[in-house]
Amino acid sequence: MPIFEFRCHSCNQEFEKLVFWTDPEVECPHCGQAKVEKLMSACAAKVGQKYTAASSGSKSSCTGCAATSCSTCG
Ligand SMILES: [Zn+2]
Repeated sequence: MPIFEFRCHSCNQEFEKLVFWTDPEVECPHCGQAKVEKLMSACAAKVGQKYTAASSGSKSSCTGCAATSCSTCG
């Protein structure tokens, strides 16, 4: 299940939300506006840092975020 990061264009807050791929609208939890921009998933961001640090090129088991063990993307 993917968790995405969003940024609200209305109040400029960032937040994470669990969404389906086809989820049409995501509302900002801070101001309730749907003017949000989808950012890179939190999972991928975290893994990206770890991946860069390790730089091992080990085989991934997660097709969602390239992590070897990602509980978020499962
Ligand atoms: Zn907002």
